[in-house]
Amino acid sequence: MNLAFNAEELVFQKEVRDWITANMPPEVAEESRRSRSSHVSKERLLQWQKKLSQKGWLVPNWPKEYGGTGWSSTQKFIFEMEMARADSPYLSSFSLKMVAPVLMKYGSEAQKKRFLPKIAAAEELWCQGYSEPGSGSDLASLRTRAERQGDQYIVNGQKIWTTNAHWADWMFCLVRTSNEGKRQEGISFLLIDMKTPGIKVDPIYLVDGTRTPMRHEVNQVFFTDVRVPVENRVGEENKGWTYAKYLLEFERGGQAHGPRLRKAFRHLQTLSKTQLNEGEPLSASPHWRERMAALEMELDAVEMNELMFYSSLKTGDAPGSMASIVKMRGTEVGQKITELAVEAVGWYGAPFTELRNYDSNIVPVGGEYVDDVSPRYFNQRKTTIYGGSSEVQRNVLAKAMLGL
Ligand SMILES: Cc1cc2nc3c(=O)[nH]c(=O)nc-3n(C[C@H](O)[C@H](O)[C@H](O)COP(=O)(O)OP(=O)(O)OC[C@H]3O[C@@H](n4cnc5c(N)ncnc54)[C@H](O)[C@@H]3O)c2cc1C
Repeated sequence: MNLAFNAEELVFQKEVRDWITANMPPEVAEESRRSRSSHVSKERLLQWQKKLSQKGWLVPNWPKEYGGTGWSSTQKFIFEMEMARADSPYLSSFSLKMVAPVLMKYGSEAQKKRFLPKIAAAEELWCQGYSEPGSGSDLASLRTRAERQGDQYIVNGQKIWTTNAHWADWMFCLVRTSNEGKRQEGISFLLIDMKTPGIKVDPIYLVDGTRTPMRHEVNQVFFTDVRVPVENRVGEENKGWTYAKYLLEFERGGQAHGPRLRKAFRHLQTLSKTQLNEGEPLSASPHWRERMAALEMELDAVEMNELMFYSSLKTGDAPGSMASIVKMRGTEVGQKITELAVEAVGWYGAPFTELRNYDSNIVPVGGEYVDDVSPRYFNQRKTTIYGGSSEVQRNVLAKAMLGL
């Protein structure tokens, strides 16, 4: 496979790079650089998403009829590369890459008209209400109940680990509408306005030390007699499992790990040159170089897989079980990069495990580039759990690809 870009693609790359350089607000890039996970506050996220939307670049993966760019898969990859290079924060995948394709395929005309333009204009943000206490990997066991009363559902129950529920405008939510027959056949897919009375959102603070009220990522969400219009159900009652699985393929496959990992690897290369071991830079050690080379080969393989995966997809297609390979290896290699970075900075990583927020005025010790190493290491632990753990991805692959 030839990974070199052709002349036309290089022109496109320059156009993208120049536009991002000229238009990315410095405060957005700075907040993203300093965050543990390249996620930023709602205010900064919307500021950046609106700029991209005005340029017509917020939803490149969508079919053209809904506002997509019509770019080739290589152009999409170049765009993600340039976004990562410029310290763009992660955009709202829940809105752009998850609920949108489900609405396009299974939503009613009224739902498409109501929700898709607002997502494409960066006016509304979404969160994902799948997991519950006791229902993560075994998602079909979920118990949040929706009982139909006339033209409304009354929702009662609890979701957990709900990323960005504290700022989302809407939640796509799996609820139990029947206890008859197979568990998967009693689930429905609802769109819930987060301002509806009866919804309570409580923060969960992670081990990465992000404890300030608006900077945390995940939450518990409680529903007490929450009224949801029946018109906000996607597709048929009790068929939600089909839509939920379709969405998961986008969650697993559409995260563009390669460009982000390449950037993290470059950070690691800088650390290798600046961190000393008995007076010598780490990069002078053959043992260290061997480990870096082995890791870079794994990274090359992730990039290659991701590119092949994108080129096998036409815009609007579902990613299929290949998405599991990309998710599993992308997140595992990402964790390895953060592990080596912690080894590289040694003791200097310790003071910042909990202390330093992106707007902190604490001066780092141990040189530039070290202060975010530990928080990133801790934050990255989540990546092989959410969206289906690595073990679960291996089960999916064993069944779908190896026929075991
Ligand atoms: C930071 C973070 C953000 C998240 N964001 C969201 C969100 O926005 N919305 C949402 O709905 N969910 C979210 N999740 C939840 C996530 O999807 C679940 O945590 C995940 O599916 C695992 O479920 P669980 O936590 O219940 O663990 P469990 O399912 O209890 O798993 C525990 C362990 O057992 C292993 N295991 C379980 N079943 C099997 C099996 N069959 N074979 C082999 N091993 C198995 C798992 O791999 C894991 O190691 C988030 C999670 C985290 C950590």
